[in-house]
Amino acid sequence: LLEVRSLRKAYGDRVVLDDVSLTVAPGDVVCLIGSSGSGKSTLLRCLDLLETVDDGQILFEGDDITDPRVDAKRVRRRMGMVFQAYNLFPHLTVLENCVLAPRRAHGLRSKAARERALELLERFGLAEHAHKHPDRLSGGQQQRAAVVRALCTEPTLLMLDEITAALDPELVGEVLDIVRDLAARGTTMVMATHEMAFARDVATTVCFLEGGRILEQAPPDVMFTDPAHPRTRAFLRRVL
Ligand code: ATP
Ligand code: MG
Repeated sequence: LLEVRSLRKAYGDRVVLDDVSLTVAPGDVVCLIGSSGSGKSTLLRCLDLLETVDDGQILFEGDDITDPRVDAKRVRRRMGMVFQAYNLFPHLTVLENCVLAPRRAHGLRSKAARERALELLERFGLAEHAHKHPDRLSGGQQQRAAVVRALCTEPTLLMLDEITAALDPELVGEVLDIVRDLAARGTTMVMATHEMAFARDVATTVCFLEGGRILEQAPPDVMFTDPAHPRTRAFLRRVL
């Protein structure tokens, strides 16, 4: 589904992604872990074409999306992205937020978009909040709604960038439960996270980043019990 080959990205002379390679198959849940500044968000932003890359390739569903002739908007329609915060438009209701992208980008007619959004909101326990504005919802409900909004375009790849990092601890669980549910249904995801227990639980592959490089890439049972790289061991000792 996704193949990243020797990706390189620099801001000025500061290299933030260096020789990053990664393969994501349908149904995979790839968790990116690593200290602050290691390049997790930059990698996700490159995948979503929110950043230009300096070298390397990203093949998505067979297309080289780093080709400058590629229409970034069209590519992004097949991807969903949820950030740490500020995901919903404050002046629109939850439902309006959810139907915006499908209507605009996919030419989906209003009724179909509405029905699909309501169905998803229902499935994730948000039906009663569909007609409220985001500021009437808790932070956890807002992030759940943000995930639902990303799902409304039926992306083939969902990217999540520390979507629980800005939440009060008691709200983290309800958001992670959605992601767990999506993983169980076979949704392909690449997510940056500081929730190690969660990564251990749901990931098919865990990537440890440091200084813009993927130092180690392994299934969670290996990564969290017997990491090969001394830097991974040092990082995990600090966070576990
Ligand atoms: P965190 O866990 O704090 O979210 P991260 O792993 O997501 O960290 P990135 O946000 O990808 O890290 O940042 C990687 C490096 O790139 C950092 O050193 C950061 O300062 C730098 N960086 C990110 N965005 C820019 C930018 N627009 N201009 C210059 N440098 C940037
Ligand atoms: Mg980040």
